[in-house]
This record gives sequence, structure tokens and C-alpha cells, in this order.
Amino acid sequence: MTITLTREQKVELDKKGYSIEPLPELTAQSKITMYRRGELPDEIIEMSNLPSDPMSLRSYLSRGFTIRPKDLTLRVKQHPENKEGFTCETCGKLLQTKLALAGHLRSHQKTNKKEK
Ligand SMILES: [Zn+2]
Repeated sequence: MTITLTREQKVELDKKGYSIEPLPELTAQSKITMYRRGELPDEIIEMSNLPSDPMSLRSYLSRGFTIRPKDLTLRVKQHPENKEGFTCETCGKLLQTKLALAGHLRSHQKTNKKEK
């Protein structure tokens, strides 16, 4: 966006000691690198050169993009499914609750008794 001034406006500004000059670093839109999840569970995709104006940022953030890749890994860890639970030390089976594990352990005791 360039600002155009009339001759009168320029004269008026000159009288007051002001001048308006184009600043290339301001006219070029700044870009940002953001991160989003890929198709695979632990895949993080780097999206570089995205527009960083407030409207675009809001849009990207609402679509699950993050500014730091580690924010995505934290979110992955917070997912309860398959990540957290109780593992049976005998057969390695993963159970969601402590109660389910207790029930599962009883099944091992039964099979052990049968073997003896
Ligand atoms: Zn087991």
C-alpha cells in the first residue's frame, strides 16, 4: 500500500519539517512458519512462508496450526488412548483402568492354578 500525496500536502508537510518515504521492509508482508499435524500419529508438518497478519493467524490457529512444533507433541501426549493405562507385567497387555488390570491379573492366577 503506497500513500500518495498531493503537491499541496507535500508542501504543507515540508513546511512542518515532515517527509513521507516508502519503507520497503514495512510494505513487504511478514511471513511466519507454523506447524500442523500430519496423517501419521507423530508426524508434524512444517508450513513455512505463511502470511502473519492477525486475520490469517487466527484462521491458522483455529485450524489446529501451532507456532511451536512442541505444542503439537504435548497435545499428542495428552491423548489418553493407547498412551496411558496399566500394563500387565505377565503378558504385556495394556488395560485402560486399574480395575481392569486387577480383573485381568485374576485371569492369570486362574490359568496358573490350572497348570499346577
Ligand atoms: Zn496379562
